[in-house]
Amino acid sequence: MSFGPSRLQPLHDDILKKYPGEIARFDAGELEWKSTAFDELKKALRLSLRAQQDGRCIYCRRKITIERRNAAEDIEHFLDKSKPKYKKWAFSAVNLALACHPCNIQKTTRDMGDAAVSSASTLTGNSGEYSWIHPYFDDYFDNIEIVDAWIYLVKAEAPRPERARKMIKDCLLDQITNIEAGKVALFDRIVRIQNLAVRCFEKDNFVRGKKLMGYAGDYAKNGWKFI
Ligand SMILES: [Zn+2]
Repeated sequence: MSFGPSRLQPLHDDILKKYPGEIARFDAGELEWKSTAFDELKKALRLSLRAQQDGRCIYCRRKITIERRNAAEDIEHFLDKSKPKYKKWAFSAVNLALACHPCNIQKTTRDMGDAAVSSASTLTGNSGEYSWIHPYFDDYFDNIEIVDAWIYLVKAEAPRPERARKMIKDCLLDQITNIEAGKVALFDRIVRIQNLAVRCFEKDNFVRGKKLMGYAGDYAKNGWKFI
């Protein structure tokens, strides 16, 4: 099973180069990230990154749901653009990726670089020490193994074991295992209840059959609360 690319390439650099004026105004503090002047750029960026990331979150590697995708998917700045020292990387191709909302919430405004990264004049794999597996400079699957969808393990020969361990811990990737297992168990329960209902209908026991279908519906609607 593929979980997306092992590392990203800055393919969207060309998109960013189309908006030098807007980006200069952002750097000068005249425009904010949420300004409508960046709507077109962000749309193109999302499409490019979605294709490259196979529609998956850069951290947990799960598919980002298609329905209301913009609400479930965030344009993610690896180095947080809200920190003054990282603002200059807000439109740097190697600082941009797509993350699912839950991962982005866990990441919040964590500082992903050390002092050397903060003072670097260009962003590369050697700019300093990063806290997590870097989407562009580290190979995800050299460092993290996803088994049995979804158990996250630090690879035995990982070149960046500390980054991998910290990312799994900070991003609560170890909890996804339970969430995904819970979803499967819930679906299994709904199917079993529906099968029992069908058997009741076959035996003309409509009252019980309807009751069971009601239970199945309740689980389908509210089951996530039990996961
Ligand atoms: Zn995620």
